[in-house]
Amino acid sequence: MILKGKNSVVTGSTSGIGLGIARGLAAQGVNVMLNGFGTAAEIEAIRAGIEKDFGVKALYSAADMTKPLEIAAMVASAEKQLGSVDILVNNAGIQHVAPIEEFPIEKWDAIIAINLSAAFHTIRAAAPGMKARKWGRIINTASAHSLVASPFKAAYVSAKHGLIGLTKTVALELATFGITVNCISPGYVWTPLVERQIPDTMKARNMTEEQVKRDVLLAAQPTKEFVTIEQVAALALYLCSDAAAPITGANLSIDGGWTAQ
Ligand code: NAD
Repeated sequence: MILKGKNSVVTGSTSGIGLGIARGLAAQGVNVMLNGFGTAAEIEAIRAGIEKDFGVKALYSAADMTKPLEIAAMVASAEKQLGSVDILVNNAGIQHVAPIEEFPIEKWDAIIAINLSAAFHTIRAAAPGMKARKWGRIINTASAHSLVASPFKAAYVSAKHGLIGLTKTVALELATFGITVNCISPGYVWTPLVERQIPDTMKARNMTEEQVKRDVLLAAQPTKEFVTIEQVAALALYLCSDAAAPITGANLSIDGGWTAQ
């Protein structure tokens, strides 16, 4: 796999899975444009850490994935500063859990915008350059919730199911240009997004942290193990390889058997 010198944009890469994928790409010599929220000091530590650890260029865009103009500007800025966007990872995502009749309208709008529409906007902006260079890898972080539902996650499940539709459509459009478009669908990965759900669930169900992990989160995951960030990053790297060139329009589960049930 010769990825050295390629350029990437990874949305939502200041934390969790996105940061793992960004570091995984950098370890292969890929320059990265980071994106996501955090304090200026945290973000600078991540950015400078990648440059120091892997000797690649690491840039940062503060683009808000709910804002189409900022998204287009992020891609343009990566193309200008890095020279191209060869690898695009749409990973930024948020969650909100509530019964449908109480689901806050602004949470629905934000989740559809960040978890689905942002990928449309980044791909729309990055596709022309990839087509011109006849090479590209677009990887969308979906979820087991792109294949099955859980109650109280109307917006998240809808957005992730939609992301698969976008992935398949664009995969067909770009298939003859050396560009693959795929989804990675993790089960539960131990990240801040999951960690933040624990205290509320402990309170709501009167459970200990261990009980929440085992009986709520991992109840649907036959391996009873969290997927690791490194395992997800390794799958993303594989999708960037030449060996994965015929894999396009696919939704690859990495979920400990969750969606086999
Ligand atoms: P995380 O909370 O650790 O990271 C989310 C990232 O998205 C952060 O960098 C955050 O700053 C960024 N982000 C949030 N809103 C943004 C916005 N408006 N604009 C730009 N960036 C924004 O979460 P994670 O668990 O690493 O999740 C990453 C992706 O993986 C999400 O799409 C999530 O749905 C998906 N996923 C996670 C799991 C899991 O168990 N953790 C499972 C399946 C899928």
